[in-house]
Amino acid sequence: MKIEVFSEEMIQTFKTDEEHIVISVRSPQSTSVLLPLQKSRIDTLFLEFHDVDESCVNINSEYFQFFNSNQAEEILNFINIYKDRVNLIAVNCEAGISRSAGISAALAIILNGIGSDAYYFKNYIPNMYVYRKILETHFKICYVCNEIIDNNSQYLTLLKDPKTGKRMYRHKKCKPKGPLKSLKRK
Ligand SMILES: [Zn+2]
Repeated sequence: MKIEVFSEEMIQTFKTDEEHIVISVRSPQSTSVLLPLQKSRIDTLFLEFHDVDESCVNINSEYFQFFNSNQAEEILNFINIYKDRVNLIAVNCEAGISRSAGISAALAIILNGIGSDAYYFKNYIPNMYVYRKILETHFKICYVCNEIIDNNSQYLTLLKDPKTGKRMYRHKKCKPKGPLKSLKRK
């Protein structure tokens, strides 16, 4: 699958005969892109969120809208519908540097295999919050080493994290260093 990153300006003039889908990202309260009329564009998914991550903004900030799990699900469902029909996914955000590259890098791993995200890290600055959120939604991630648990490795499913209510996973070989803080009894 070809997954290409675009800025808002580039996507508005992008013309191709190749059948493709578009994932178009903008900030809340900004105006939507005008995509050129063309039959080859099969469908478009529009998403709104700010270009922020936990390292620069508090996730509970009322001024910023973070990318969330529902949006990650929306992207994954959208891709599932069309992945056998198209060979090109065009992803755009305003500057074409961070949010679109974060989505593209995660989708590259999911659709083209581990390691195929290197291109996006070399040429862009992927938003790591977006990147991780999509991968966490699609894969099981080991909470000890933070790596993807692939189909060949043995893993353990643990108690739900009491804070988030989500199941947690770890590689069988990855031994936790100590009891999780959140699981300690008072
Ligand atoms: Zn691990």
